[in-house]
Amino acid sequence: MSSPTAYITDEICFWHDPGNYALMLKPGGFVEPYNRHIENADPKRRLHNLIQQSGLMHSLQVIPARDAQVHELTRLHSASYVAKVEQIALAGGGDTGIGAPISSNGWAAARRSAGCALTAVDAVMQGQAQTAYALTRPPGHHAEPEQGMGFCVFANAALAAAHAIEAHGLERVAIVDWDVHFGNGTQKCFEDRSDVLTISVHQQAGYLFVKGEADELGQGAGAGYNLNVPLPPGCGFGAYRESFEKVILPALDAYKPQLIIVACGYDAGRFDPLGRMMLDGVAFRWMTDAVLDMARKHAQGRVVMTHEGGYCPVSVPFWGMSVLEQMSGLKTEVVCPFTGQHDQMPAQKLQTEQARLVQSLAGYFEDIRQKHWA
Ligand SMILES: [Zn+2]
Repeated sequence: MSSPTAYITDEICFWHDPGNYALMLKPGGFVEPYNRHIENADPKRRLHNLIQQSGLMHSLQVIPARDAQVHELTRLHSASYVAKVEQIALAGGGDTGIGAPISSNGWAAARRSAGCALTAVDAVMQGQAQTAYALTRPPGHHAEPEQGMGFCVFANAALAAAHAIEAHGLERVAIVDWDVHFGNGTQKCFEDRSDVLTISVHQQAGYLFVKGEADELGQGAGAGYNLNVPLPPGCGFGAYRESFEKVILPALDAYKPQLIIVACGYDAGRFDPLGRMMLDGVAFRWMTDAVLDMARKHAQGRVVMTHEGGYCPVSVPFWGMSVLEQMSGLKTEVVCPFTGQHDQMPAQKLQTEQARLVQSLAGYFEDIRQKHWA
């Protein structure tokens, strides 16, 4: 094994073009044209460049991405939706659902983006690497079986889990989604299945047609295998650490996943324009370590990260480096310019009301496990 950590991305991911938007609004009326969708390539491109510039790229195992095949996409998406995405791209572009626009290269980009996630799974399952980071774009965790949503076209992280089960024979896969937004698509893909434990820690939603409340537990055979940890805006490292220690890690420990997939968004970072959380590099390192530890205990160390949201082009590359350094165990000369102030940030400490909330969720999910898990 040349490097413990594989890195997979593709140039077409950076060329994915949601089109002419201002934030996520179509210019018109009193919305002045801005020519830049908020989900543009900059944060991810700049992370890719920093991996290169820091020298870390030389020490990662760079693996070329392949396309996700149609039969791999239809493991979770309907055939009609997959065909529709291709048609929209062929017609020059358009919205694949609710707020997930593509341009003429969108079919190619979205297939390759999902393919990055599948390649990452192949790498860790075939023992080429211990862990793998898929720098995917378009992102995936809002994409539902029948429609794109929230900048996401195909459900990259969910497709990765399905691939691990169907192509590599795993029986239990866990997805931990720490993107600041609720991973509605991932939840929907597996809501009636117990072979994928889906966990989403996010800023309380109740918007974007989705909720992500704690009582959305899954249904049928999947009842009790979906955990939502909705946190109030303003949470920092303390609240996230508490959520991991009291809710997420105990659930993972009880589930004993054979692979952990992280829907790794950076929009809980404190500069993000689309999130109101306060995380920094200290938190992203800690959460990465927590997942790695759990994977070493139950999953032969196998962790796949799929890059989701994160819209601050300056800070995302540093948060991403934090994650990649922890995954690979390699230290570069990159110093995060934002994390030095960590101790001076009051929002990093666990607040009383946050602790109370997490405690109640911990008790709630423990009861759910008693009731539903065999
Ligand atoms: Zn997000």
